[in-house]
Amino acid sequence: MTMQRIYLDHNATAPLRPEARAAVVAALDLVGNASAIHAEGRAARALVEAAREKIAALVGGEAKTVTFTSGATEALNLALTPQWQDADGRPVDVLLAAATEHSAVLKGHRFAPDAVEIIPVHRDGRIDLDALDAALARHTGRKVMLALQSANNETGVLQPVADAAERVHAAGGLVLVDAVQSAGKMTVDMAALGADLLVISGHKLGGPAGIGALVRVHEALHLADPILRGGGQEKGFRAGTANIPGIAGFGAAAEAAAATLDDEAARLASLCDRLEAGLKAIAPDFTVFGEGAPRLPNTVAFAIPGVTSEVALMALDLAGVAVSSGSACSSGKVAGSHVLAAMGVEPERAKGLLRVSLGWPTTDEELGKALDVLDRTLSTLRIRARERAA
Ligand code: PLP
Repeated sequence: MTMQRIYLDHNATAPLRPEARAAVVAALDLVGNASAIHAEGRAARALVEAAREKIAALVGGEAKTVTFTSGATEALNLALTPQWQDADGRPVDVLLAAATEHSAVLKGHRFAPDAVEIIPVHRDGRIDLDALDAALARHTGRKVMLALQSANNETGVLQPVADAAERVHAAGGLVLVDAVQSAGKMTVDMAALGADLLVISGHKLGGPAGIGALVRVHEALHLADPILRGGGQEKGFRAGTANIPGIAGFGAAAEAAAATLDDEAARLASLCDRLEAGLKAIAPDFTVFGEGAPRLPNTVAFAIPGVTSEVALMALDLAGVAVSSGSACSSGKVAGSHVLAAMGVEPERAKGLLRVSLGWPTTDEELGKALDVLDRTLSTLRIRARERAA
């Protein structure tokens, strides 16, 4: 009998939604290049523009400011440059980035090393707004860009983006929001967040991988140094023939996610409550990272004393449950979490980080089964750890 696997790693990649699959498959049969003016090209173009509308609707943006990219990593690399031209016509002098940003922000920007300042976070993972104020005061007279994620991929902690954006705007700066983890899981509204630039990714919300978008607050915000130059597609922001199936699937996933957003958020939050209660019963001394801060409705990041992520991940995988250590480098090995380090978590405890992230296909029944496996696996590992320590 084959074991029914339970997939609880939606923050890494969410399974393709049926609506997205259907859109991808239908688009594979289109022959048109979206830039061509014949009927086939126009059909492809119509599909791209319909998807653009759906992406814009998901984040409260305008379709004409959506640029499709190969994913959020590319969109962040594209956006994190000094070369933005807005009303004041001045390039950006300084990049401020929260310490818990994704590595695509911390390593993917195009600023000189001495033009970047990392803003610390509190122990609960939220950006230190006093430190942001101090940085803005230090850089008076210089133009800043703040990169702040709406939700953290490892802990699910939500950032006070609107508060931070208000401060940055008062200082004449720009705000880039990495909304990869919150889009499709909760309401994301560019205006409410105060985002000048916003980035999302297809595969995190049930679309295909290899597609993402950069959304600008208005058309006048112009980029002087696109990365991919060539045929001038995407209004010159990103040259290259459009990935029609990817874009169609991304649009369909965004539309499907938007249709059930509030109900799904409530459903997943109640599953996460049940998960946390179950974990507490397994190990009353467990730690939930980011506890006390508002968090995504689908994410629980925790550690149990004496249980290391690497061993627990493998044991759970063998037992049929896919969870994550929150961060994995490309070799698949568990790496130390810069997010937990920034939150001041002791390295010994950080070594135990396990992230469970739920999503649209997760059912009550599945969570019950996962809790049984977690109980068996983690209780055994915990007993072994105690024996070793004795
Ligand atoms: N930003 C955050 C918060 C993420 O979680 C990820 C993916 O892990 C990315 C950016 C990069 O997304 P993509 O896989 O589309 O390049």
